[in-house]
Amino acid sequence: MTNTLDRLAPPDSENLASPGPVDTERVADLVGQLLAALGEDPGREGLSDTPARVAAWWSGFLYPEASVAPTCFTEQHLSGQLVVIGGMSVWSLCEHHLLPMNLDVAVGYVPDGEVMGLSKFGRIAQRYAGRLQVQERFTRQIADEIAVVLGNTDVAVAVRGTHLCMSTRGVRMEAARTTTVQAGGRFESDPVLSQQFLTLATDRWRAA
Ligand code: ZN
Repeated sequence: MTNTLDRLAPPDSENLASPGPVDTERVADLVGQLLAALGEDPGREGLSDTPARVAAWWSGFLYPEASVAPTCFTEQHLSGQLVVIGGMSVWSLCEHHLLPMNLDVAVGYVPDGEVMGLSKFGRIAQRYAGRLQVQERFTRQIADEIAVVLGNTDVAVAVRGTHLCMSTRGVRMEAARTTTVQAGGRFESDPVLSQQFLTLATDRWRAA
C-alpha cells in the first residue's frame, strides 16, 4: 500500500471529531424528568424502565466507532474504472428536532491505483450517521473521509433522505425526499462520468 495521504489535506476538524461519550446515567435521569414534564407518571408500570431503556438506546446509537481502519489494496490495473456502491441505508438523527432520518447512501469513486474494501464504505456511512446530523453535512463528511483514506479526490456521494421532521411535523409531507450530492475531482469536471454515477446511484430510488 502506497502512502498517498500526503497529497491531500485532511478533512476539517469537524469531520474527524467524534463527540461523546454518552453519560447514560444522566440521560436516564433526564428522560425521567422529560416524562414528568410531558404530564406522565414516570413511576407507573409501563414507564418505570423507560428511562434506562432510552439511555441504553442513545448510548448504543451514538458514536458507534471512533475510527475506520483504512483498508486499501493496491490494484494498479483497476485505475480509471468507475466503482459505485449503492443501497447503503442508515438511520441518523436530525439535530434540529432529534427525529430520525433514513439516509440511503451511494458512493462512487475512480480508483487511482488503490481500491478500498467494500464494507468500509458502509462503515464510514454508519459512523457519520451515529450522531446528531444534518443530511448536507453527512454527505460531505463521507466524501471527505473516503477521499482522504484513498488519497484520491475522484469521489462522489449521493444521499437520499427521508426525514421524520418533514413527515410528522410542520409541513407533514409524507412523500418528501431530500437528495444531496457531493462531487469531487473528475466527478466535478467530467459531465459524462458524473452522469454515469448519478444514473447508477439513483437507480434504486427511481425503482422505489
Ligand atoms: Zn429536522
